[in-house]
Amino acid sequence: MKKTVAFHNLGCKVNSYEMEMMIKTLAGKGFIIVPFDQKADIYIVNTCSVTNIADRKSRQMIHRARAANPDAVIVAAGCYVNTHGSEEVTAEGVDICVVNEQKKDIADILDSYLGSREAGEACAQTDISDLEVLHTRCFIKVQDGCDQFCTYCIIPYARGRIHSRPIAEIVDDIKGYVSEGYKEFVPTGIHISSYGKDRPEDGEDLLGLLEKISEIDGVKRIRLSSLEPRLITEDFARSLSRIEQLCPHFHLSLQSGSDAVLGRMNRHYTTGEYIQAVDILRDHFDDPAVTTDIITGFPGETEEEFRETVDFVEKVGFYETHIFKYSRRRGTAADRMEGQLPEKVKHERSNVLLEINKRKKSEFEDRHISERVVSEVLFEDTEDIAGKTYMTGYTREYIKVCAAGDRYHAGDIATGTIRRQSDIIIFEDRS
Ligand code: SF4
Repeated sequence: MKKTVAFHNLGCKVNSYEMEMMIKTLAGKGFIIVPFDQKADIYIVNTCSVTNIADRKSRQMIHRARAANPDAVIVAAGCYVNTHGSEEVTAEGVDICVVNEQKKDIADILDSYLGSREAGEACAQTDISDLEVLHTRCFIKVQDGCDQFCTYCIIPYARGRIHSRPIAEIVDDIKGYVSEGYKEFVPTGIHISSYGKDRPEDGEDLLGLLEKISEIDGVKRIRLSSLEPRLITEDFARSLSRIEQLCPHFHLSLQSGSDAVLGRMNRHYTTGEYIQAVDILRDHFDDPAVTTDIITGFPGETEEEFRETVDFVEKVGFYETHIFKYSRRRGTAADRMEGQLPEKVKHERSNVLLEINKRKKSEFEDRHISERVVSEVLFEDTEDIAGKTYMTGYTREYIKVCAAGDRYHAGDIATGTIRRQSDIIIFEDRS
């Protein structure tokens, strides 16, 4: 009899990618994928352990799954298992623990737990096109692990040292995804700037990878995930600008605009190096979207250090700033630092940056909104906004736009102008 499986994902893009892979594997073996809030035979919680809060959410989802069906098989996969060990995780009511390295073997693991190969083999192949019909953008995992050891982060312990997938293997995967209808590809990893550094003898690096991806027929867009500022040199940016499909959208994690805080975070760059990287990108791309992450209330962050961050964020003029209140993570150096700040301070500082983010985002969008400037949009999904259904998509700069009517479908690429209408940005065709 076919078994139903419900997934819940927590955490980063790499985790999302790995969950998609597990879904594909199990769907291909005949398991029926159902929503997490539905009663299922098997629940798989793809956990995260980046902060104590992420640990708590992972435990909550495990308990929620158990409550939804006391007889279900509960699987905890990923970083929470890697960092806490099977014994501790099993005590939460989990039946099967799967570390990151075992996710690719999920079908075999379930098969052997269920005690019969029938569960996976007797069922007809499931048509998984339903799972993908709304997907036009594909996060493709190109590397795992990190050896940067930021003092607040547990990831190098949870996922280990860097490990890059060979270019040929990634290219093969992408060709398959192109044939399934994906148009945009986002090379994803824990630290993609380190791509290839674990295998210098192969001579493969991030630029080489991007160039190879751009040569694949049917790849319409390539969007980069988070980059390390020190990777951005004149040569690198010039080469990137020659890749036609590369979206002018660069996410450079800043975390703090204070050099003293960056030092305590062990971030390996200064604000001077950071702004230089942004300037180089702006020299080679026409008003690209530069986005970032900031942590507020890092241990010992003084009012003056926070002011430096505020000034720096104003100066750079990010399209989007993702703001995180510092969250302690057991086992990290930052957790043991003096000067842990009260939640109230983190919250207040976060609010200051949220206000700046709102203003800067709007300024960036306004520069791209014009009767004359033609934007290319890749449509992805339908969405109900204020009682009306729109097809939504993203420009190359990652500005979200909405098109009324039923002219466009997921996967369509169109060019036109964009204008603001209340809280949304409307796309109008000019092709
Ligand atoms: S770069 Fe720093 S924050 Fe990012 S995964 Fe590596 S150690 Fe963690």
